[in-house]
Amino acid sequence: MNRDYMLRRLDGTTWDFIVIGGGATGLGIAVDAQTRGFSTLLLEQCDFAKATSSRSTKLVHGGVRYLKQGNVGLVVEALRERGLMCLNAPHLVQDLAFVVPRYRWWEGPFYGIGFKVYDRLAGKLNIARSRVLDRETTIERIPNVETDGLLGGVQYHDAQFDDARMAIALARTAADAGAIVVNYMPVVGLVKRGATVSGVKAEDRETGRQYELHASVVINATGVFSDAVRRLDSNETEAIIAPSQGVHLVLDRGFQPSDTAIMVPQTDDGRVLFVIPWHGRVLVGTTDTAVDRVDIEPRPLREEIDFILRNAARYLERQPVEADILSCFAGLRPLVQEGSVRRSTKSISREHSVVVSESGLVTIVGGKWTTYRKMAQDTVDDATEVGGLPERPCRTENLPLHGAVKPRSTVAYPEPHMRYYGSDAARVAALMEAEPRGRELLHPNLPYRRGEVAWAVRQEMARTVEDVLSRRTRSLLLDARASREAAPAVAALVAAELGRDAEWVARQIAEFDALAAGYLPAAENDRAPSRPSVAAASRT
Ligand SMILES: Cc1cc2nc3c(=O)[nH]c(=O)nc-3n(C[C@H](O)[C@H](O)[C@H](O)COP(=O)(O)OP(=O)(O)OC[C@H]3O[C@@H](n4cnc5c(N)ncnc54)[C@H](O)[C@@H]3O)c2cc1C
Repeated sequence: MNRDYMLRRLDGTTWDFIVIGGGATGLGIAVDAQTRGFSTLLLEQCDFAKATSSRSTKLVHGGVRYLKQGNVGLVVEALRERGLMCLNAPHLVQDLAFVVPRYRWWEGPFYGIGFKVYDRLAGKLNIARSRVLDRETTIERIPNVETDGLLGGVQYHDAQFDDARMAIALARTAADAGAIVVNYMPVVGLVKRGATVSGVKAEDRETGRQYELHASVVINATGVFSDAVRRLDSNETEAIIAPSQGVHLVLDRGFQPSDTAIMVPQTDDGRVLFVIPWHGRVLVGTTDTAVDRVDIEPRPLREEIDFILRNAARYLERQPVEADILSCFAGLRPLVQEGSVRRSTKSISREHSVVVSESGLVTIVGGKWTTYRKMAQDTVDDATEVGGLPERPCRTENLPLHGAVKPRSTVAYPEPHMRYYGSDAARVAALMEAEPRGRELLHPNLPYRRGEVAWAVRQEMARTVEDVLSRRTRSLLLDARASREAAPAVAALVAAELGRDAEWVARQIAEFDALAAGYLPAAENDRAPSRPSVAAASRT
């Protein structure tokens, strides 16, 4: 995947679909559309998965909370998608056991029965059966659990993934099929023929060059930015997105020193809390804070950090304090505003909706990472009709994503994170050997090596220090301090690959340093949201 090649392919083509937005939703649509045989161009204003899609809880899940609400249809859909994701991207998605610790007598039968229903709803695609655990087994599975008053636990299974790596796998799958995907290319306007949207105006952020690009259908897959793109179509457009912020803290593995996650289904104030092993660290979250401004780099609020620390401490014997935070990050959920999606809308489920404007602009809103494939299928089905394009069957149900290796494959992973490269792992390892100092670690506290930077630039369209440290590797999320220290080396490596000068290197280091400061709790966010209350029900 090479950006210069992609740019050369932009001129003189009329596309079947132009997709705006390179997060889970847009990338899923590009894969679906291109593999149906539709020519597809995807434009992303920053880097792939820069926004919400790299800031999730990293769970591929049916959504136990919907079960509690009696929303069986949604759970069945998500469990099916979970199963398909495990099959189509086994290098990126893995089984994860969760234990719900029990402190009250009724929690055993209550959650035990609930998770049996969850197992049943997954049908043939179920990962593993849930079961009730005694006290000893619970402590064995989650050794840092608070033992005072502990009766036992209930174990169930969902799946875990690496969200930003999954986004790159989708971009590469789309590109492998012939789609053109371009990062750092914001859409700044819509082109119309009469009253109908017939293309976009876009600007290359690296060169400033403007493009006018044409398509049968333009699809708006910009998540929390959807309303801004809809306003390019019509100033009178009503808002349909109600963004909600979620924060995670990253801690040392000592806070959950096993491969099992803890799920607290209801903290004392009615929320869900996860303590999850991830990339050799522990991820704790999340919050649910209504916000009224949409920022590409949202910042955790002091009260969100305090909330997570306070609640985690109630369920953990070794209790985390602020100084233990290696990194903290915030993401914005693209929730659909209640009642905003009107009758003309093709409302597909309460989780996601496809909205077709009078101009023919197709907007997809809502959903979650787990259901990205189904969202893409629904969107392409509707967009095909809008554009009068021939109906073609969706091919993504059984489509292995780029790098997919079968679970029983003999590929050896020298380091655990190398499994995320899937079938590319051997080539990444060979590049590390071939590059001078390619096997040297970027930082003693990070698992990544210098050779991986060259891979990220050459094969995965990384363009900046942030792309490498935040999304091609997950350094920034795993350890913000170490990432700041690694930034100068990464800047020099990226500059050598892209032919950039010393001024570029200095600017990159300064920009990354300012960004990474926001991933440390000391850098508090001084912008209070208009509604700072943390909402009543927690989502992931
Ligand atoms: C805290 C949190 C935890 C979550 N946990 C989970 C989980 O565990 N499991 C799960 O299944 N889901 C989870 N989700 C939900 C999931 O992350 C989101 O539903 C999903 O990532 C949304 O993807 P998207 O592509 O719609 O939006 P985004 O990822 O935000 O992508 C939209 C893209 O559009 C781009 N864009 C915007 N304007 C323009 C423009 N003018 N031109 C070009 N590009 C533009 C943006 O830069 C952005 O990259 C979580 C969400 C949050 C916030």
